[in-house]
Amino acid sequence: KGERLRLPPWVKTEIPMGKNYNRLKNTLRSLNLHTVCEEARCPNISECWGGGEYGTATATIMLMGDTCTRGCRFCSVKTARKPPDLDPDEPYNTAKAIADWGLDYVVLTSVDRDDIADGGAGHFAKTVTLLKERNSKILIECLTPDFRGDLKAVETIALSGLDVYAHNVETVPELQRHVRDPRANFDQSIAVLKHAKVVRPDIISKTSIMLGLGETDDQVYNTLAALKEAGVDCLTLGQYMQPTKRHLKVEEYVTPEKFKHWEGVGTELGFLYTASGPLVRSSYKAGEFFLKNLVE
Ligand code: SF4
Ligand code: SF4
Repeated sequence: KGERLRLPPWVKTEIPMGKNYNRLKNTLRSLNLHTVCEEARCPNISECWGGGEYGTATATIMLMGDTCTRGCRFCSVKTARKPPDLDPDEPYNTAKAIADWGLDYVVLTSVDRDDIADGGAGHFAKTVTLLKERNSKILIECLTPDFRGDLKAVETIALSGLDVYAHNVETVPELQRHVRDPRANFDQSIAVLKHAKVVRPDIISKTSIMLGLGETDDQVYNTLAALKEAGVDCLTLGQYMQPTKRHLKVEEYVTPEKFKHWEGVGTELGFLYTASGPLVRSSYKAGEFFLKNLVE
């Protein structure tokens, strides 16, 4: 564990801005929404917001504040044992803002709120329901916490009217303790994904893993197989990037060819879709994949 690895060319990106991007960016200012796209300086922002070949503009909105009760070692979100109270108006305001914003596909996500009885599931679900009431055409993906394995909370969200239930296992089972907050683990995350499908068999379930944290090829393969076995529908794989010096170091920059290899493995294993590439994030062009692969 010596020097930091140098950035290979395939993870350096320029951010070209399309017309749709500028329109969304200008509207966003007045709406008081926090997008992960902007806060994480996601390299895919112009593609997602711009809509790509299917013209489906996608963004990821963060609910329940900017402070998490957990401290995963790869994540740059602030941590506190008792973050500020939830804003009771947030579900309504967010639903209205997103409906007015003109997105086709929205990913709603949140920090983990282990300090709240239902982990914020009711608040999260209310946002979805209100948004669907205002715009029945918008496709909604919820990227949720694990709710410490509280399946009632998972159910609340799964029954809210969403289209895609996403929850990230983040890494292979062997590295869970090293990478995620100790309250998270692989089996608990699998249980969340499974339960969402039990309650709503017609929804799409989805998970994501980061590569470059020191996992072996066998471990990645076995993880993919376990996810398939658990009935997960869709999968994304992307390169882990160290957000600050205080976070876990990158152990490896996985080559684009290797990512392609995993995409092939995902397809062979029978996932509905597998998006795999250095810059792929769990919500990467999610709307486009949805329309291209799942609606046709
Ligand atoms: Fe970050 Fe999510 Fe972990 Fe909280 S639970 S520290 S938001 S990855
Ligand atoms: Fe936003 Fe996700 Fe797209 Fe990045 S990949 S721009 S976070 S929707």
